[in-house]
Amino acid sequence: MSRVVMHLLTSVVVFLSGLFLMSAHAGVMTHETMVQAFPAPLVVGEKDRDLPVWPIFRQELTSTTIAAYAFESQDFAAIPGFSGTPFNLLIALDPNGQFMDVRVLSHHEPVFLEGLGERPLFAFVEQYKDLSLTQSIKIGTGQSKSGKENGANVYIDGVSKATASVRILNQSLLAASLKVARAKLGYSEGRDPDLIAKIRPDVFKPLDWYGLQKAGLIQRATFKNSDVEKAFKDSAGEGVDVEADQQPNALFADVYVAHLSVPTVGKNLLSPEKWAYLQQRLDPGDQALLVLARGRYPLMGEDFVRGTVPDRISLTQQNLPIEIRDLDLDLDLDASLNLPSELMDAQWLAVRVIAPAGLDPAQPLSYALHVTRSKGMVYPELVTRHFSLATQLPHDYLELADADQKTWHSIWLDRWLELMVLLCALAVLVWALREPSWLVHHPHRLVWFRRGYLLFTVCFIGWYAQGQLSIVNLTAVVQAVAAGRGVGFFMYDPMTVLLWTFVAVTFFVWGRGTFCGWLCPFGALQELISSVTRGLGFQWRRVPQRWDDRLKKLKYLVLVVLLVCAAVSVTWTDRLVEVEPFKTSITLNFVRAWPFVVWAVAMVLLSAFVYKGYCRYLCPLGAGMGVLGKLRRWDWIARRSECGQPCQRCHADCAYQAIDKQGKVDYDECFQCLDCVVIFESDALCVPRILDQRAHHDVIPIHAVANAVSDKEPR
Ligand code: SF4
Ligand code: SF4
Repeated sequence: MSRVVMHLLTSVVVFLSGLFLMSAHAGVMTHETMVQAFPAPLVVGEKDRDLPVWPIFRQELTSTTIAAYAFESQDFAAIPGFSGTPFNLLIALDPNGQFMDVRVLSHHEPVFLEGLGERPLFAFVEQYKDLSLTQSIKIGTGQSKSGKENGANVYIDGVSKATASVRILNQSLLAASLKVARAKLGYSEGRDPDLIAKIRPDVFKPLDWYGLQKAGLIQRATFKNSDVEKAFKDSAGEGVDVEADQQPNALFADVYVAHLSVPTVGKNLLSPEKWAYLQQRLDPGDQALLVLARGRYPLMGEDFVRGTVPDRISLTQQNLPIEIRDLDLDLDLDASLNLPSELMDAQWLAVRVIAPAGLDPAQPLSYALHVTRSKGMVYPELVTRHFSLATQLPHDYLELADADQKTWHSIWLDRWLELMVLLCALAVLVWALREPSWLVHHPHRLVWFRRGYLLFTVCFIGWYAQGQLSIVNLTAVVQAVAAGRGVGFFMYDPMTVLLWTFVAVTFFVWGRGTFCGWLCPFGALQELISSVTRGLGFQWRRVPQRWDDRLKKLKYLVLVVLLVCAAVSVTWTDRLVEVEPFKTSITLNFVRAWPFVVWAVAMVLLSAFVYKGYCRYLCPLGAGMGVLGKLRRWDWIARRSECGQPCQRCHADCAYQAIDKQGKVDYDECFQCLDCVVIFESDALCVPRILDQRAHHDVIPIHAVANAVSDKEPR
């Protein structure tokens, strides 16, 4: 026993000494550090008073121009990574929305912290330089597509084994940059430009005005005087419009709107010259809209200046305003617009929506006509009412956006096959555990089924699909909650979500054992290695009960230390979670700095001497599973009155020492190996059953048999 404890202690010392050699640091930018990051000829201006953004100027011979806006991503989009703590990126965005610079200031992603190392992370962010916020930036799946442009898309290389982490980084970078672009570069609050539909330039149908209306390409709203009067009821604007009072049914405004950039609209309404002229006036991705109105309410107020934002008409999408600006097109209604005769007296306005505004033509749009009335002469009271016109462009004219490649939805779609395999495997496990008679009546069948399943757990769930649940999942929740953030970041890792969901359900039925006994890759690895070493003649030692009871408590202490640490120190949590050898053994296949490899190998080999010693005595995740397993509603392991008194067979045979001398099962320590269930069901192994069988032939005192098996060596 003392050799085992020495082995454990030596491993801990070697591991910790290595760990302290490795450290991470984080930083928050000050003016001084900004100056270091952007040296001359760049000049760092004063931090904006309203937004945490530094203007970066470029000094030229005679002038100083704005070169970029620099900011930290966590000030704008604190999207937690897998440790529950966000990436912090230093981003410099030039006035055209191009990334002048992107650097990682800090992160706590387990896979990059002493795992793959930070180099792949730094190489990943390097790729953003010179790309534009208006481009559709897609993360490749490993094949080098860097710099390749495919239509509107530009591909950057992902990082193998860190797919979800780099997507979270990408999401943080774009969300933060869009916020700054909206505030500083005049981008509207529209959608992410990467995720909007595009107008199909190849679709054209010859239609007249009425055909366009019928096709849903021109939409109309008519407002009578009485409608407007009703809207001003009970306000200072009520009764102010004498004409409206006198002719309530007369037309106030007849409004038509159309998406002029859609070829079927633009080419049918505009002359070929004007259509060509419109194309010239629009930048790539810009969209043109046409608004026409007739009636007594002019579409433009008296003070309206051509080329500016209209004062009487506005646009919103998904409740966010989209800026529209008069295109100042020189249209002559007779010659340039093919309108029906009744609209020849209409007023029209062609407006532009710039590409970065993120107007999505596939989503509903809402136009609003603003009507302002004033009452009083000296200090007139102004009252404004809005009259809406909701529109929706038919999808036939659009190329819908690709699936959202930046958020978690796409990861779930990408990994559907792995998820299906996992679902099938979980279904098999549920079936095996619900109907164990097929296994437990044939011990060899159980042995081979178990080995096969554990092999699947290590190879598929662990090494291939990277689905090792970890204490980092729990510390991440604590860190996210402590910082007031959500835990949505888990959705970037579908295997983890699916496994946790399944395991959460099994807590109520079987307790901790289902995960620790069947679904933990590191646990499975230990068990398989134990089988091999046992085949080679190594026999593990049964830990004396007194020591076993004490050591089992150790893992709860480790759990508490980690959870408390998670609430107070991110840096220390990053270090201490390394007590868990999962990242080294499962995520990185033992390719890592030597202290970590020594630790992981030691924990695996420990199992050759103390059966699954890491699981039983040290594993903080196992401790957490034990605590959550208390939700179990049933004692699913059948017991007899003879169990423990006097029979000691199961107590002696449970390799996890989870059955006490009284025959009671400690479910917090049970790994659901089913060995005791095999014994219980067997006429050849269960002592009371053996005695029942022999009762008619031999007279054997039960205590003699029981004492005999209680003295036997562990299997
Ligand atoms: S105790 Fe830890 S390592 Fe062992 S099976 Fe459970 S979670 Fe995995
Ligand atoms: S022998 Fe029984 S009590 Fe012990 S771990 Fe296996 S199933 Fe649990």
